[in-house]
Amino acid sequence: MIIKSKQDEIQNYLKDASNYSGNCDAVYFPESESDIIEILIDTNKNKKQVTVSGNRTGLTGSGIPNGGIVISTEKLNNIKEINFNKKFVQLQPGVLLSDLQNKLKENNLFYPPDPTETSCFIGGTIASNASGASTFKYGPTRDYILELTIILADGDKLKIKRGENFAKGSTLNLATENKKEIKIELPDINIPDIKNAAGYYCKKNMDAIDLFIGSEGTLGIISDIKLKVLELPKGKISCVVFFNVEVDGLQFIKKSREVSIKNKNSKIELLINALALEFFDEEALKFLKSEFPNIPINSKCAVWFEQETNGNDEETLLSEWIEIIKNSNGNEEQCWFALNEKEEQKIKDFRHCISEKINEYMASKGFRKLGTDVAVPDDKFLELYNYAKIITKKEKIKYANYGHFGNSHMHFNFMPENEKQYLKSKKLYDLICHKAISLDGTVSAEHGIGKTKKHLFLEMYGKEAVDKMFSIKKTLDPNLILGRGNLF
Ligand SMILES: Cc1cc2nc3c(=O)[nH]c(=O)nc-3n(C[C@H](O)[C@H](O)[C@H](O)COP(=O)(O)OP(=O)(O)OC[C@H]3O[C@@H](n4cnc5c(N)ncnc54)[C@H](O)[C@@H]3O)c2cc1C
Repeated sequence: MIIKSKQDEIQNYLKDASNYSGNCDAVYFPESESDIIEILIDTNKNKKQVTVSGNRTGLTGSGIPNGGIVISTEKLNNIKEINFNKKFVQLQPGVLLSDLQNKLKENNLFYPPDPTETSCFIGGTIASNASGASTFKYGPTRDYILELTIILADGDKLKIKRGENFAKGSTLNLATENKKEIKIELPDINIPDIKNAAGYYCKKNMDAIDLFIGSEGTLGIISDIKLKVLELPKGKISCVVFFNVEVDGLQFIKKSREVSIKNKNSKIELLINALALEFFDEEALKFLKSEFPNIPINSKCAVWFEQETNGNDEETLLSEWIEIIKNSNGNEEQCWFALNEKEEQKIKDFRHCISEKINEYMASKGFRKLGTDVAVPDDKFLELYNYAKIITKKEKIKYANYGHFGNSHMHFNFMPENEKQYLKSKKLYDLICHKAISLDGTVSAEHGIGKTKKHLFLEMYGKEAVDKMFSIKKTLDPNLILGRGNLF
């Protein structure tokens, strides 16, 4: 196994996409599960901190160490089996999402969770319970995890299959491969019933596997994975609609969401049923204009929607969508319709570009990313949206607001020009999170809490609930070596 400790060789492991930076003594590159076990037995004995690193596309510093060692999963990148008939794939945690997507496509399959950044590792997406545009129709990563092998802090192995081990009320019993019995008391926490990736998943009678999904590298290291996959749809409509009035774009999202939710459970074909509903405000469009000069002038916002098709229903579906576009005063003539895969990819690049460009802008100024990950119940979203805009405009700080508005989930990104504005933006960021909490929302719908949002996590659930989550951590990792600084 390779171990690197020269500072110039390990620099890449000390910063993530949010520009959060840390330090460590060495980076280990296990090539097998037994390598991970060997490292953990040693670090646990010596009470040495261990941070698991995926591909560091995370936006909360959760994969970045503050001391101790890093375990990089990059050499564990084997897709072991793709089973078309049973619709599953077995793989190691260091497989790139883009590699998985390409391999599945060759097999006429796809994996729905699609965090916009495809250079993440599957292990990292599970540890963050990542989501993406298609989460509107298909739900988050959690819904696609069939089995996990987890190496616990002491090197013992836990294999969990979905549907096999449920908590009895608030008591969850786990049995390791070395026949150790672990009893976990699940706190009774009011988890918001919306898209949410804040803290441990704790519910009465829950499936044991759900505790580990979204646990941000704090409960164990995922070493083997079985995912549910789906058959590729025959076709897809992908379109960006521009609006001259902001409220029209927001109404378009609302109408499309309502009709899609209504039709989702219907078996009738030829109905509007959005795969994704993504929003870009005027500031985001202005910021993208240099890369995408064909953004129509006077656009006050845009919505990217996608819908899967069966190959024969495109015309009918398109005319239904055009009806909604017209009824919402969208610029029908100026829509970007993707007519083939290449154009579809161009639209995806447009969506990816806004996140990436903002991360680059912040890094160029030497600031850490300040983009919200808040979501609230649908009927409270407009209140949150307007609040964020009003308080930021008042301070004259540059921003761009975009994101997964189908799920009432927004990435309000501050783009301060100097240190003074950065400090002010941090305050405004917190105010938006306070507002989301007061509207029964979450401070993290998909990126997790990591090291940067702990104060908001505490505010969201309260000290008692967070302390109870911490006791779960202590039961599974008594020496507190894993993912130190994340969540708690
Ligand atoms: C431009 C851009 C756009 C993005 N858009 C989205 C989006 O739309 N939706 C979204 O959800 N995210 C988005 N992200 C965030 C990011 O891609 C995800 O958080 C990703 O899931 C993290 O994967 P990673 O491999 O980079 O993990 P890392 O960042 O390296 O680590 C993330 C966490 O996973 C833990 N971890 C990694 N591997 C393991 C393992 N094997 N076992 C246990 N714990 C492990 C780490 O310790 C850490 O806590 C975006 C990021 C960028 C840069």
